[in-house]
Amino acid sequence: MHTQNIYKNYEPAVTAPDKDYKCGYWFIFCSNKLLIVNNENEAKIPQYNELSELSQVLTSPLYLGRFYGLPAYCIGLADSTQAPSGMSFVDLRSTFGVLDEASFLLASKAVQVVAWEQTHRFCGKCGSLTQDLSGERAKVCPKCGFISYPRICPAVITAVFKENKILLAHARSFKGDIHSLIAGFVEAGETLEEAVEREIMEEISIKVKNIKYWGSQPWPYPNSLMLGFTAEYEGGEINVDGVEISHAHWYDVENLPELPPKVSIARKIIDWYTMEHSSS
Ligand SMILES: [Zn+2]
Repeated sequence: MHTQNIYKNYEPAVTAPDKDYKCGYWFIFCSNKLLIVNNENEAKIPQYNELSELSQVLTSPLYLGRFYGLPAYCIGLADSTQAPSGMSFVDLRSTFGVLDEASFLLASKAVQVVAWEQTHRFCGKCGSLTQDLSGERAKVCPKCGFISYPRICPAVITAVFKENKILLAHARSFKGDIHSLIAGFVEAGETLEEAVEREIMEEISIKVKNIKYWGSQPWPYPNSLMLGFTAEYEGGEINVDGVEISHAHWYDVENLPELPPKVSIARKIIDWYTMEHSSS
């Protein structure tokens, strides 16, 4: 297990102990972009007392728990919202390495909570207005009783090894010439291991064995949970599907192509493997 206790300085909770929400840290989103305070060398999450320009719209937030000892809230605002002076709405991914890690991680959770709130105002079964279910991160329909929870989509991502080489592929959706691991969503009724085997077979036509769990990472773009695996090559020739994957090759750790950003579990697995297999 490589991914325990990712959050720092954070105690999760769903129900605010106090009705007064005009305090603490606010994770504010507008079109999935996060509001940050721009300082000279670093960015930070705004506190309520810095947000007077938005006070009219900062009502009915969702409680996240305590962050650095203060209450933390999240809310989604209308697309037309203007950032207060000295602040800006930025793409969450671009805040990696700019925000401190604890803030980045909690923002990654908050964006999923906000997206869920915005897409579950009405019952998915009968269309009535939903209500918050007390004490849980859930919505209940007062008419038919249907309960909905935040939707999380599991996806598997796998590092395949063959004779000290790692399989890396370029997907058409990747920027530039980035090469990464094979990934895909788990289908209904499938085990994680079956999803690993199927995705690798579908995308590059090879068979794998000895599938082992490596670790996981919430991936809020928009609501995935990435489950990392390692596997050994068993048989077949690389033959890319040409739809998702444009090319794939076996790489020696001494000679890796352009890799995904360090924030991703893909990169964490590749870096871990490189550490284990570097000759130096
Ligand atoms: Zn209903």
